[in-house]
Amino acid sequence: MRLVIMGLPGAGKGTQAALLSEEFGIPHISTGAMFRAAKGAGGPLADKIAQYIDQGELVPDELVLAIVKARLEQEDCRDGFILDGFPRTVSQAEMFDQLLDEMGLKLDAVIDIIISADEAVRRIVERKTCPRCAATYPGGTEKCSVCEVPLAKRDDDDEPTARKRLVVYEEQTWPLVEFYRERGLLLEIHGEGPIDEVFQRILTRIRGLQADEVLG
Ligand code: AMP
Repeated sequence: MRLVIMGLPGAGKGTQAALLSEEFGIPHISTGAMFRAAKGAGGPLADKIAQYIDQGELVPDELVLAIVKARLEQEDCRDGFILDGFPRTVSQAEMFDQLLDEMGLKLDAVIDIIISADEAVRRIVERKTCPRCAATYPGGTEKCSVCEVPLAKRDDDDEPTARKRLVVYEEQTWPLVEFYRERGLLLEIHGEGPIDEVFQRILTRIRGLQADEVLG
């Protein structure tokens, strides 16, 4: 199963991708988490990446493609993956198509989790993240339930940067909805409501795809 998950920052991509990863036994690949790790590692590349992340701007395509290609070539991606946060622009999607072609792979679906911009800002400003495993928790949670360490606020989860990320999303990522709709890959999912309900909506649509495939 090769999936892409998209949606506004705060839509719950990371949370749903982690559940899908467990359900289908495929790795959850978050480009945002990879860039935050690279930023935390220090050095010249870290400084370059920080310039973009800290302003809510997109990291340049060449850097993104290089990091994604290296990750998809790893052994654990053999049976599939779920990409969270990539592609983010039409040019990234075109480069991704080319990369998949070169690797002889095909995407099964693009899940678009839909929430309103107001709900997105509210969730981003309230949420906290585990500094160890990067899991995201809604406001009011103090510790990671897996790592049992205190949660922290992501540097780019303040209100001005969140609003900037929403504008960047609307301008640069929204055109991807049409890009994938035209290719018959788009699954639009209502993303408000309890986490498990959203997950069941996604599973129902994926199972529908699998049934269509069996029936030919
Ligand atoms: P995310 O965790 O997906 O919200 O990503 C956090 C930040 O990482 C973004 O605001 C960008 O600066 C950077 N980033 C993550 N994925 C990409 C991508 N596919 N293209 C460009 N920048 C990205």
